[in-house]
Amino acid sequence: KVLLLLVLLALSSPCNFIQSPMDIGSLNFLKTRSTVFGGPMDFLESTSSASVDFGRFIFHNPSAVLRPKSPRDIATLLSFLSASSTPKITVAARGAGHSIHGQAQALDGIVIEMNSLPSSIDVHQAMDGEKGLSYADVSGGVLWIEVLEETLKLGLTPRSWTDYLYLSVGGTLSNAGISGQTFKYGPQISNVLQLEVVTGNGELVACSPTKSAELFFAVLGGLGQFGIITRARILLQNAPQKVKWVRTFYDDFGTFTNDQELLISMPQLVDYLEGFIVLNENSLHSSSVAFPAQLEFIAELHKDSSKVYYCIEFAVHDHRDEETNIDDVVKEISSKLSYLPTFIYSVEVSYYDFLNRVRMEEMSLRSRGLWDIPHPWLNMFVPKSGIEDFKDLLLESISQQDFVGPILIYPLLKDKWEANTSVVLPVPRPTATGEEEKVVYVVGILQSVDPAWCAAACMEELLVRQRHLVEVAGGGLIGAKQYLGYQRSPARWRQHFGHLWGRFVERKSRFDPMGLLAPGQGIFARVG
Ligand code: FAD
Repeated sequence: KVLLLLVLLALSSPCNFIQSPMDIGSLNFLKTRSTVFGGPMDFLESTSSASVDFGRFIFHNPSAVLRPKSPRDIATLLSFLSASSTPKITVAARGAGHSIHGQAQALDGIVIEMNSLPSSIDVHQAMDGEKGLSYADVSGGVLWIEVLEETLKLGLTPRSWTDYLYLSVGGTLSNAGISGQTFKYGPQISNVLQLEVVTGNGELVACSPTKSAELFFAVLGGLGQFGIITRARILLQNAPQKVKWVRTFYDDFGTFTNDQELLISMPQLVDYLEGFIVLNENSLHSSSVAFPAQLEFIAELHKDSSKVYYCIEFAVHDHRDEETNIDDVVKEISSKLSYLPTFIYSVEVSYYDFLNRVRMEEMSLRSRGLWDIPHPWLNMFVPKSGIEDFKDLLLESISQQDFVGPILIYPLLKDKWEANTSVVLPVPRPTATGEEEKVVYVVGILQSVDPAWCAAACMEELLVRQRHLVEVAGGGLIGAKQYLGYQRSPARWRQHFGHLWGRFVERKSRFDPMGLLAPGQGIFARVG
């Protein structure tokens, strides 16, 4: 390893490596040589932070952590490692490390900390009369919260979000990036104009839908398999000042989903739509800071604790223009809905606070020591035709009283997704009228497990139950697909991709033929 790292250092501008504790000898050696290679270089004596993620149940220690100073450092590393005579070392980009199953880890390999690239966010505002769009050019390791803060300075904002903003641009674009705006604008990967990518071969390539298009579409939703995103051009629009945020409650699943589908059919009025299952008081407490009034609904829950309720959450942007009265818009929308009489609540918040709402929950959980604990999360895309069966299966597989964490359910529209990206959605089914089903639900089972009451054996049992749910839901009856998921073997990955497997393999052989990248996904083996 020492030899390898020295060659790398000699080849590149001075790279920063953090060495694993097991290589303290080589670390010292490198430290003493740093000036020879153009130092000074920072070496930290631990790689342990790169072996932890938000899931907190898979911990793979890398041999080294690279802190690149520029995309060139990444290109140098990858072109060196992709030469067939080098050792079988793998490489994982790490954004914010908010994966669940070790997807940004590299056992005995090299983790690249994307946040060490110089952070840059350049906003281009389209002027009146100017052709073209407003956009932001951002580096791959930047967090979405930083993008929001910078673009808002010019009254602009990205269109499509994730619920939580302390995730990196490269990390969410490698998956899809979905939230309550997805029904209207598509996922984040549908809102990118260009990328700069270092392929597994070490080539630094600028790509877009018209230039190196195959790489562009491969990388979007590509699970980090084809290249490392070092820069992205994100589409922007005018930001609203305020948001009217509304919750309505249901005791019937069919009525809940019918109303959700009605809401996504009104994109001219509705700007955001999600929903969740109300299993117990905990389902509401986490967001009660924003919605104090809905605590009334807890009294309703106490009337029959075995009953399951559902909550729709929708929002309308308020641009403060004189022509639109936002309260009238909310009234117009809610008059069409069939929620439980009187159980409707609304608040007005700033656009920034609305988008950053999960941060409030994070702070509250952190203060109680409940943030840095295991999160065996499961996210699935479920065809509309199977959503009722999936909900029944899910409720059978969890304990209503003990479940801690939200269970999100909301619909998306398939035609807002670019078919050429690497994302896998359920195969469309024909409806009664013979048309293809356009609606797909996302279900996020976002469970937190406090080790104080659920230790190793309990956690294992929970994961077994989860695997059973995935197995049944993935079968022909429901036809669901995992999102952000982990498959236990390459054969299962093949099954996950279905008819798209051939394209995925072909892209891998073209852009990362040595199988260097993102080993934590467990899809391909390192070649060599
Ligand atoms: P990492 O965990 O660091 O990396 C994820 C994968 O991407 C790894 O395979 C890694 O190697 C690869 N990767 C990282 N950076 C790059 C890069 N620059 N180029 C190429 N590959 C790269 N997702 C949603 O879609 N919607 C949500 O609402 C949502 N909410 C979330 C809320 C919380 C609290 C958490 C913890 C996660 C949430 N996620 C959500 C999931 C999140 O989008 C993914 O886990 C995402 O990968 C996290 O980004 P990251 O920067 O932490 O990525």
